[in-house]
Amino acid sequence: MAKRGHLFLLIGPSGSGKTTLIQEVRQRTPLVRFIPTTTTRPPRPGEENGREYYFVSAQEFDQLIQRGELLEWQWVHGQRYGTSRRRFADAIAQGLLGMTSIDVLGGVAVKAAFPLDSTSIFVRPSSLDELRRRLVARGDTVGEDMDRRLGRAEMEIAQASACDEVLINDDGRLVEAADRLVRIMDPWLQQAEDR
Ligand code: ADP
Ligand code: 5GP
Repeated sequence: MAKRGHLFLLIGPSGSGKTTLIQEVRQRTPLVRFIPTTTTRPPRPGEENGREYYFVSAQEFDQLIQRGELLEWQWVHGQRYGTSRRRFADAIAQGLLGMTSIDVLGGVAVKAAFPLDSTSIFVRPSSLDELRRRLVARGDTVGEDMDRRLGRAEMEIAQASACDEVLINDDGRLVEAADRLVRIMDPWLQQAEDR
């Protein structure tokens, strides 16, 4: 029988470095596939539908909820984000190593749905000041939006211990954080290499 896959849920506040870490891991190993979630937020410059996210209208998101296609969904910073039950279940059944970026409430829900087939990894910066600097540097967060993101970040960090692993992504120490992430993933990477 084919081996089951595994989901790595990168959880944490906006700006903690989840997307950057996913890129770093994917450069190191082709075995890991990013599984985009679905959002009503508009794409940022350079983002493509189906690559970073499935970008949908509010009406399309309503339909996904009505059809029961979302395993969970959340309002985050005034937009809705949700995960497709089928996409995750298919990835596991097909033996894929999937990785996704999700907030703490969604991450805990996905972990509960796939308790043996997922690992929840909370990514956090060493301080809220550092998070603010990163959001300023990324250049897509201003004024009220910044306060909203930092307020939510505090709530998320307070719940980090609900995750299987907590990974500190310190300023300028991306390589060390990616090394630790790959070590966490190692048992599943080894299994996939042996197939
Ligand atoms: P998230 O996906 O969690 O919202 P990003 O990966 O987009 O966060 O990272 C937010 C910003 O912080 C980006 O501009 C990224 O280049 C930067 N960043 C990520 N990790 C580090 C790090 N270890 N040191 C310095 N800057 C970082
Ligand atoms: P951003 O707009 O900065 O890409 O993401 C905002 C936040 O939404 C991040 O914390 C991200 O991880 C989270 N997020 C992305 N997709 C989902 C999802 O499907 N469900 C939930 N609950 N959160 C998500």
